[in-house]
Amino acid sequence: MKTSSGSRGQVKESPIDQQYRLLLLNQYLKNLKEVPVASGGSKWVFCCPFCSSLGRTEAKRNERKGALLWNDLQNSWVFFCAKKGSPQCSGGGKTLERFLSALEPELAEQYRIDRWHSRTTGKGHNCPSPYGAIRPD
Ligand SMILES: [Zn+2]
Repeated sequence: MKTSSGSRGQVKESPIDQQYRLLLLNQYLKNLKEVPVASGGSKWVFCCPFCSSLGRTEAKRNERKGALLWNDLQNSWVFFCAKKGSPQCSGGGKTLERFLSALEPELAEQYRIDRWHSRTTGKGHNCPSPYGAIRPD
């Protein structure tokens, strides 16, 4: 049965998150593949940008160990690496902001600035305010 549910998680993706997700997918992540998930929507899997280059063989380097998964609680994407082969991809999942920070600090700061302008940084949000920012209100 096909539902017309507009409440699917990914529908709630903010325009800013969408913009940066597409930038990541188009420019930063290699061997990308979109995979449908059981709950509906998609996830993306790709070569982990932190540890795939450390693989000993071509096949290992091409393995899609990194993933962007939708998180309903945050209404956003979380990065995971199944291999955890470098300090940057070890530990738990990373918010989009943490992922950007580890990957491309300048882009992360731009993301924080964009989020700050939309008043979705700081307490109660999954993104800190940009460096040197004063409270938006
Ligand atoms: Zn990794």
